[in-house]
Amino acid sequence: MIPESFIQELLGRTDIVDVIERHLPLKKAGANLVACCPFHSEKTPSFSVSPAKQFYHCFGCGAHGSAIGFIMAYSGLGFVEAVEDLAAQAGLQVPSEKANGRRQASAAAPLAGLMAEAAKYYKEQLKASPRAIDYLKARGLSGEIAARYGLGYAPDGWQGLSVAFPDYRSQGLVDCGLVIEGEGGKRYDRFRDRVMFPILDSRGNVIGFGGRVIGQGEPKYLNSPETPLFEKGRELYGLPQARPAIREGNSVIVVEGYMDVVALAQHGIGNAVATLGTAITAYQVHKLLRLADRVIFCFDGDQAGRKAAARALEACLEQVADDKTVAFLFLPPEDDPDSFVRARGAGAFLEMARRATPLTDFLMQELRAGKDLATAEGRSQLVHAAKPLLVRLQAPLLRLQLVKLLAQASGFSQPEIEALCELPVVARRKAPARSPRGAPTPLVRKLLRLIVQQPALAARLPHDLIPPGHAESQALGALAAAVAEGNLGEQDFGRVLEHFRDTGHEALISEVLAELVEAEFDEESIEAVFTDTVERLRQAAVRQEIESLNEKNKRAGLVPEEMRRLQQLLAQKQAAKPAAFD
Ligand SMILES: [Zn+2]
Repeated sequence: MIPESFIQELLGRTDIVDVIERHLPLKKAGANLVACCPFHSEKTPSFSVSPAKQFYHCFGCGAHGSAIGFIMAYSGLGFVEAVEDLAAQAGLQVPSEKANGRRQASAAAPLAGLMAEAAKYYKEQLKASPRAIDYLKARGLSGEIAARYGLGYAPDGWQGLSVAFPDYRSQGLVDCGLVIEGEGGKRYDRFRDRVMFPILDSRGNVIGFGGRVIGQGEPKYLNSPETPLFEKGRELYGLPQARPAIREGNSVIVVEGYMDVVALAQHGIGNAVATLGTAITAYQVHKLLRLADRVIFCFDGDQAGRKAAARALEACLEQVADDKTVAFLFLPPEDDPDSFVRARGAGAFLEMARRATPLTDFLMQELRAGKDLATAEGRSQLVHAAKPLLVRLQAPLLRLQLVKLLAQASGFSQPEIEALCELPVVARRKAPARSPRGAPTPLVRKLLRLIVQQPALAARLPHDLIPPGHAESQALGALAAAVAEGNLGEQDFGRVLEHFRDTGHEALISEVLAELVEAEFDEESIEAVFTDTVERLRQAAVRQEIESLNEKNKRAGLVPEEMRRLQQLLAQKQAAKPAAFD
């Protein structure tokens, strides 16, 4: 856990304009800055950044949030990573045990410099090697694509890197995996006579390399080892370059090789990324599903490809949601994406991707494989095999679909499958309890907006008039408490939002902030609106009480004291400005 006080300090030391400007060109427009929205496609800018509120908001698609939220949404980082990223920019140290024991910022920093230096060296070497250039040309790659992916060449020789690093004995070179120390302390370059693919993190830093052999040789691909900078299960090759295309098409294609990514990009398919020589992890799937609604895994059509796909399927089960699509594309056995797109063109590849097998279908295929469904044994085995997978599938509607498919294939009924697999019954979403007539929640919501805009008003909230039990009322209570604790900087929406992150109030507060950006109360009229809102709340309370007394009267009659109260209330209602009873 990162302490809240640190988040608030970090946001206090961070300017959202700087953060967003690192990724988007911002133009001044009055008090705010604008850009074309990175989260939906548009021609005229409706994405607005407010330096005063430390908040971004898109008037087109409604995306909004703090500087932390922007980094998460834009870079697909998790909360902790986004905070680490901003903290590094602000020169702050995140005061928590690492969420994972990897990146030791102090150990990683000098290594990042070495990797950047090495990437530069390999790039220069590529220019000097006609053999490597010919190889890339023969694969149909242009200079522009080679530059976009920062391709390089590690020359043949044992200590090529000593040209770039006069201190070839430096421990850092071993630590970042560029140099191998053999027996007797003899050192030599890990990558020799290979085309080099730098692997970047989401901030664009080189964290590792993939080296591909030129022509024949083993291994075909050689990767950097895991280092303090580089953890294979968390990174994806080509992601920084693919991000704009992923966003534009709202889909991402996952392939197995670096060359596949680059070849697809060469043919105009820019939304491909590759795993790093390991099976895809749930973490990577999670990252991809944050960036796009459709993820297509592309595998070779052979037995190994099928196996890899089955592993990918498992990594998806707990990540996929009902509004996301995961699909599996199998190429002809003799092809990989690189050879396929070169031979048959982008159109054919995209058509294959469009027709990729949806997750549920692939899962059913996998489950059916090797079972004889004509026999009772085969049908029972089917359900038995499905159970551990169904339990892990988190998307309720998708799971229901699968249960139906399984019922069809197995001859069990749907409730039988649910019982056999011990699945929680899909909860029918309760219709929201209808608010009683004239329910004051819109008024409470208005108070939320007023308090965010002018926290001092929190001290004057008429708590007795605020009907308990509503989400709005609870959020208002939490907001008032935050003001009282001094956690709420006036006008700084980013900090307000982060204060409520991961609380039950987050969604509501987030909505309220967006409403405020779209329709802010006039500075001068705040006082009047507040007074009017409180008055309306009072009237709503009066009306509510009249109604309940009337009802009791009809049911059981009223005692004299209640009678007097009713008359008093009716008089109050009479006296009120008619406008208040709308
Ligand atoms: Zn937008």
